[in-house]
Amino acid sequence: MPNYDYKCEKCDHVFEVFQSMNDPKLTDCPQEGCDGQVKRLLGTGSGIIFKGSGFYETDYRSDSYKAGEKKASESSSPKPEKKESKPAKSSD
Ligand SMILES: [Zn+2]
Repeated sequence: MPNYDYKCEKCDHVFEVFQSMNDPKLTDCPQEGCDGQVKRLLGTGSGIIFKGSGFYETDYRSDSYKAGEKKASESSSPKPEKKESKPAKSSD
């Protein structure tokens, strides 16, 4: 029987449950006094894999991005806010 890890979103209680694949997922925290919802964690022990923290940054600072950024800053001139003066009640 496979075992699943669950984590309570409210109290962060993590627990393991042995259940068959046909069993419904648990939704309620087993902790006494806690009515939090539990989420089934994927896999056991591996957790969520964050690929290289620098990945996003590198991508963000690619040449094409820089070029785009430059263009954008050049073309963006301060726009004066148009305040349309709405005529209030015409008291005529
Ligand atoms: Zn809980």
